[in-house]
Amino acid sequence: MRGISLYVHLPFCAARCPYCDFATAPASSALRARYLGALATEIAREGAALGRPRLRTIFVGGGTPSLLDPPEVARLDAALRAGFAHRPRPREVTVEANPATLDRARLEAWRELGVTRLSLGAQSLSARGLRALGRTHQPEDVPAAVEAARSLGLRVAIDLIFGWPGQSVGEWREDLDTAVALGPDHLSCYPLELELEPEASIANWPGAGWKGLERWRRTAAACQPDDRGLAVLYAVAQRYLARAGYRHYEISNWAREGSICLHNSTYWRNGPWLGVGAGAHSHLGGVRSCRPVSLARYIGDIERDAPRIVDQGADETVDAAILALRLDTGIDLARFALRRGADARERVARALGATGVVGLVRWSGDRVTLTPRGRILASEVFVQLIP
Ligand code: SF4
Repeated sequence: MRGISLYVHLPFCAARCPYCDFATAPASSALRARYLGALATEIAREGAALGRPRLRTIFVGGGTPSLLDPPEVARLDAALRAGFAHRPRPREVTVEANPATLDRARLEAWRELGVTRLSLGAQSLSARGLRALGRTHQPEDVPAAVEAARSLGLRVAIDLIFGWPGQSVGEWREDLDTAVALGPDHLSCYPLELELEPEASIANWPGAGWKGLERWRRTAAACQPDDRGLAVLYAVAQRYLARAGYRHYEISNWAREGSICLHNSTYWRNGPWLGVGAGAHSHLGGVRSCRPVSLARYIGDIERDAPRIVDQGADETVDAAILALRLDTGIDLARFALRRGADARERVARALGATGVVGLVRWSGDRVTLTPRGRILASEVFVQLIP
């Protein structure tokens, strides 16, 4: 097999942010050592099953991978080197970090593992924004983390959230201003989306319960900008970041020249990737699959050598079309037909020609892209593609 991309999930966080639905668990979890052991076993097993392919990209996400202790990082490094070919080296290795959990010793351990890029979960650069989001770090932790990453020669990506309770357009501009002034290579801007039903991810937080989270989320949702307000904030980011020299290459992502995220581009281009760890998804040989979110279930599955859970309902044509449309390069229907057949092309062309998407997509020969308005209302385009 030619190179693949690898996603590694490290679920541990110092505290649970009340809006977050990722597969997370307390850093103090009694299962931490067993989890890291199971992860090493899964890496060894999957690497062997795939014939020790080379890794094109690695993305270590979470959770808060940056709070792993240096010996834990070294153990992960050893597992990766044993499980996969490391020559040629991966083109990009990203680790996600919470600005408050970075220190020089930890960063150096990640550098040893080959990290080239730090993805910082800043979310807001203002004290009011961080408080509204229930974050535990402070605004001044972000420039310090950027500085530490730069001193080791790492590329820097910053994640921001817009539409937090009570956020004004002016406050969003200030967040963008402060973030851009730090000179990141890459910026992601996500709207605050609050799930109001219990999520499987709370399974790993004993005592945290759903009730408290639900109360926080309902209160926050009541003070959030509405859909129109969110669209205004998104349009502000589109204009502001274009002026600042960032390419809006994916619905939620902007990059300086030569700095798009290669790993996430594998997802959007519907390429092959293996995900290891609790809740991690994989896409190999055209099959989508995942591991359980619960740490206990994940560890049990790895210890029993249980297979990944296959997504039986996945539709490759729809998934590939939606993922391609997320990118500014859109979908080339002639190439789509070559890879997936004339029927698949016809299905997609019919959906993208529907009256419901007029003004949301732009046709240029066989290529279809989302318009700036289409990016704001992307779900209205995507829904046309679903049978
Ligand atoms: S630190 Fe990140 S992954 Fe952890 S709970 Fe907060 S938002 Fe979620």
